[in-house]
Amino acid sequence: MWAYKAQLPGQWPCSRLTGNGAIARARLTRRLQFAIILTTRLRRGRHKTRAAGAAGSGGEAIAFRVTILASGSSGNATLLETQRTCLLVDAGLGRKETLRRLADAEAGLERLDGILISHEHTDHIGGLPQLMRHWRTTVYLTEPTHGEVQRVLPEGSCKRINRVEYIRAGQRFTIGDIEVAAFAVPHDAADPLGFTFCANGTKVSLVTDLGYLPELVKHHLRDSDGLILESNHDLEMLKVGPYPWHVKQRVMSRTGHLSNHSVSEFLADPEGFDAAARFLVLAHLSEYNNNPDVARISAEEALGRRPAEAAFRGELLIASQHVPLGPLLL
Ligand SMILES: [Zn+2]
Ligand SMILES: [Zn+2]
Repeated sequence: MWAYKAQLPGQWPCSRLTGNGAIARARLTRRLQFAIILTTRLRRGRHKTRAAGAAGSGGEAIAFRVTILASGSSGNATLLETQRTCLLVDAGLGRKETLRRLADAEAGLERLDGILISHEHTDHIGGLPQLMRHWRTTVYLTEPTHGEVQRVLPEGSCKRINRVEYIRAGQRFTIGDIEVAAFAVPHDAADPLGFTFCANGTKVSLVTDLGYLPELVKHHLRDSDGLILESNHDLEMLKVGPYPWHVKQRVMSRTGHLSNHSVSEFLADPEGFDAAARFLVLAHLSEYNNNPDVARISAEEALGRRPAEAAFRGELLIASQHVPLGPLLL
């Protein structure tokens, strides 16, 4: 049963609960967060009953549970769970840290249906060999990205990446009951991708590591119920920050990372951002050239510029490098 009132972490197919004090505290926190999300939704009257998994008796079905385990240039990993499928997007944390954060988020996995890789930068693949040894699952990535992964990682550890399925930009494919759409993003990697995920009529989009937002990417982000979008740096902080000039140029370039300003322009524009999302997560924040308050204020100011009839009524959240965000329920 997937009604909010019935759904508890331990009832998800891939989850298991452990009983120590830290987990109990985390569980309490999750339940508080859960209550806040539910209360907020009730207040806003934005309930939509989902067809699949609906629990009847007025309960709202949950299509996705999204947990951002880490987000930023030291490691990225996001867990997407549906009733049947557990999918990890990017593998930028080592095995121990991944497991620790899964436990913190009450999402300890007994099985994983796949690891989807956006591109070969170390903050997205650094933990891949360890995670492959732990879960023995399939890695979904493009052929050029696979080539770069083999070049970047030590030869011995590449042998652990032995179950590979090639994907490509412009393709739709399914992993379990999740339909994935992969699309190209402008970034200085071999074949970088952004993704949207659909299950039970609900759509989650995840786009980080891109220098600007092309129209095609904006198109893919439309109708998202949950949107995770890079807001990497504040331009002024970057300019006066510690990076060498060539790195600053790289970050600011059309194949670098999205600035708070670029995100603001997108969020303020009803033609670009449709404001359909129930949660909007600012992600991949730079540790040195941004901070959560600056990114949040910038986004809030942009959202405040929208016309009333196109107002954003969802939650604005900030993903962290250091602690998991979620589970966010859709
Ligand atoms: Zn990255
Ligand atoms: Zn990157």
